[in-house]
Amino acid sequence: MSEHLPNHDCNNFIKKVFLVLDGELPDNDRKLFIQDIERCKGCLEHYDIEKSFKDFINAKFDRKSCSKELKKEIITKISQLQAT
Ligand SMILES: [Zn+2]
Repeated sequence: MSEHLPNHDCNNFIKKVFLVLDGELPDNDRKLFIQDIERCKGCLEHYDIEKSFKDFINAKFDRKSCSKELKKEIITKISQLQAT
């Protein structure tokens, strides 16, 4: 439990997912974002991207690069759900 985190907002969370995928979230925000993931696993589960997204984040944080295929896969899954 952390008191310093902003309120979790599921819609805002998905926006941040896109920022992270694009590498546009600053390092500091990324740390908060990771904590946010832990707080609302429902978000990732809902979009069925929990595993792929964590792989993506781990890979990105380690190597500062990401797999285009994984990024595409995550975006496709989110878009499909948002379209319905
Ligand atoms: Zn959520």
